[in-house]
Amino acid sequence: MKCPKCGHLDDKVLDSRAAREGASIRRRRQCLACEHRFTTYEELVKDELRVIKRDGRREEFSRLKIERGLTRACEKRPVSADQLHDLVDQVIESFEGEGEVQSERIGQAVMVRLHRLDEVAYIRFASVYRRFTDAEQFRQAVEDIADKA
Ligand SMILES: [Zn+2]
Repeated sequence: MKCPKCGHLDDKVLDSRAAREGASIRRRRQCLACEHRFTTYEELVKDELRVIKRDGRREEFSRLKIERGLTRACEKRPVSADQLHDLVDQVIESFEGEGEVQSERIGQAVMVRLHRLDEVAYIRFASVYRRFTDAEQFRQAVEDIADKA
């Protein structure tokens, strides 16, 4: 942890104790360079997002699965793997603390962000994700994009 006084990166932990009824851990630290003492709180990061599927079943959110779909949609498009990774990070963050989220909402969150990155990739992803039941729906989605452009 970076010392708030001198910026040194090494410290030792003097004391650790549970805080907020065990929801976080409070640590007293001492900078190894200037001996300044400071406090940090460590909290559990909830990244165990669960997906509620259309049929009501639950499954673990799979970053791999979404990234695979995005990578396919972005084939030969000017979108980097890093950008896609960031996109999925943003999606996960946007649902932080919710625990369970409908797959449609996750799809929407992905599509809104993908639309900003690349429209062709967006249409490809949307066509797979939404499983357009007919050509009319697909045409509508494409026109929606054209209207906003
Ligand atoms: Zn220091």
